[in-house]
Amino acid sequence: MNNRNQLNLKLQKEFLEFLERDIGSEKYQEKEKEKETQKENEKENGNENEKENEKENEKEKEKEKDSENEKEKENEKENEKKELLIKIKKTHNKQWSDRIYNILTAGSNCKNDCKYCYMKAMKNRFIQTDLEDFTMKVNEKKVKKGWRTNQSKPKLFMFPSAHDIFDQFVDDYIQVSKKIILAGNEVLIVTKPSMVCIKKIINQLADFKKKILFRFTITSDDQDILDYWEPNAPSFEERLNCLKLCYENGFNTSVSIEPYLKFPNTLIEKIAPYINDYIWVGLMSGLDTMENIKIDEIKRLNELYHYDNTLKLVNEFKNNKKIIFKTSIMLKIINNL
Ligand code: SF4
Repeated sequence: MNNRNQLNLKLQKEFLEFLERDIGSEKYQEKEKEKETQKENEKENGNENEKENEKENEKEKEKEKDSENEKEKENEKENEKKELLIKIKKTHNKQWSDRIYNILTAGSNCKNDCKYCYMKAMKNRFIQTDLEDFTMKVNEKKVKKGWRTNQSKPKLFMFPSAHDIFDQFVDDYIQVSKKIILAGNEVLIVTKPSMVCIKKIINQLADFKKKILFRFTITSDDQDILDYWEPNAPSFEERLNCLKLCYENGFNTSVSIEPYLKFPNTLIEKIAPYINDYIWVGLMSGLDTMENIKIDEIKRLNELYHYDNTLKLVNEFKNNKKIIFKTSIMLKIINNL
């Protein structure tokens, strides 16, 4: 096609368009509408794409922020764990005593009859005594024995370690304690204290109070729980009153909450004012292998000793200078870190 023909065609087209526009033909209007809709669609699509991009960017930013927060939290957790370990290890290094001493015969069963008693389990296994026979016999030889003077640093004797102190032999107990102290040693009196025995001890050993450290075992302030686990031991009230009495009479006082039978916050609150030494806190061991324990109690204690609750306990009391966590707690924390 030559140039002239092309020009004619173009003029023709423009003229037709002019006519369509001029007469407002439907065809022309439709075309215009189509063009406008197309433009609008393009505009809308453009906006939507922009919005999508903005959203994506925001999401990316949030993700980055989240992962930074996660990292920060992990670092905080790591630091907390390290701090916790240092604290537990520090307190754990303390020892209860240098020596242990008992004056009952090996076959005597402690009549407190605690269900978690380690000694009872050992006797059942190795001596096979009648565990329901609570006739406790004092080993006379041990009571009459003379003590050589200790020439070196005083040794701390945990006395007793395998039974408790009962009124039927508290006089023998006091006599032996005096001998241990006069030989240049000190006595750690570990007991679930009864008022009868404690009154006698603090009266008769008043001159030696600086050589004596009481450590009363109080595992809960809930009497129903104590009645189940320590059926014949003195009540919570009686033990608390013994603690007050010793403290008010100027003796060194400490408490062992081992095994704690309930989360010990309220117990600690009640005993803390009467402690001038330490409060030792520990878990119960061997719970799952114990016989004749109510299933509900096993469940409750397993929950209480669960790692999360143990950690909660440690966190709650880690800054309390009176509290010492025992090996059982340390191991639970370390093994789960
Ligand atoms: S007082 Fe101690 S020795 Fe006696 S039954 Fe209880 S845990 Fe065993």
